[in-house]
Amino acid sequence: MTEVKRLCLGDYQANCYIVSVGPQAAVIDPGEFTPELESAVAGLKVRYILLTHGHFDHIGGVPELKALTGAPVAVGAGDADMLGDPDKNMSGDLQPESFSCLEPDILLHDGDVLDLGGSRIEVIATPGHTPGGVTFIIDDCMFSGDTLFNLTFGRTDFPGGDENALFRSIEKLTKLPGDYAVLPGHNRATTLSFERRNNRACRHFGGLS
Ligand SMILES: [Zn+2]
Repeated sequence: MTEVKRLCLGDYQANCYIVSVGPQAAVIDPGEFTPELESAVAGLKVRYILLTHGHFDHIGGVPELKALTGAPVAVGAGDADMLGDPDKNMSGDLQPESFSCLEPDILLHDGDVLDLGGSRIEVIATPGHTPGGVTFIIDDCMFSGDTLFNLTFGRTDFPGGDENALFRSIEKLTKLPGDYAVLPGHNRATTLSFERRNNRACRHFGGLS
């Protein structure tokens, strides 16, 4: 039985998700290390720290969380250099203090599968918001980072952004069979079936009727 807990962390209220299967857990996008996050992982064996992309508001809590749990940090290969580069992770522009994180331990590619207590963590490359952005699928949950949001989609005006790539990534997600709970990097959850019908990004590839 997979359980998902959401915390809203940092000045930009990025969604951090703690996904647990029994005692094993993955933490997705720890944007800030807070007592709330520390208590949310207490008693869990954190197997992975998973990053949907390398922007500072999604990675700010990585060093402390890794120090606490020893879990490897996984990020899309194309975003690996953002962690240690304040200009690329945007903290140089958008934060009072620029932020440089540690080296990732696992570089993710499209189609990779990680094991979490017998559940599959599937990696789908979803570039566009950043070059190496990824979406994670665990059971019927889709963790879409800053690619697909409730009724909208991620910005592409940051360094490395690519609007055409973003629309192709969203098309790829919406063409997956079946339905998923979509748990984005900011704001409220939605479902893939709702976004297929209502998200204006789908106009770009004719998916919106
Ligand atoms: Zn972002």
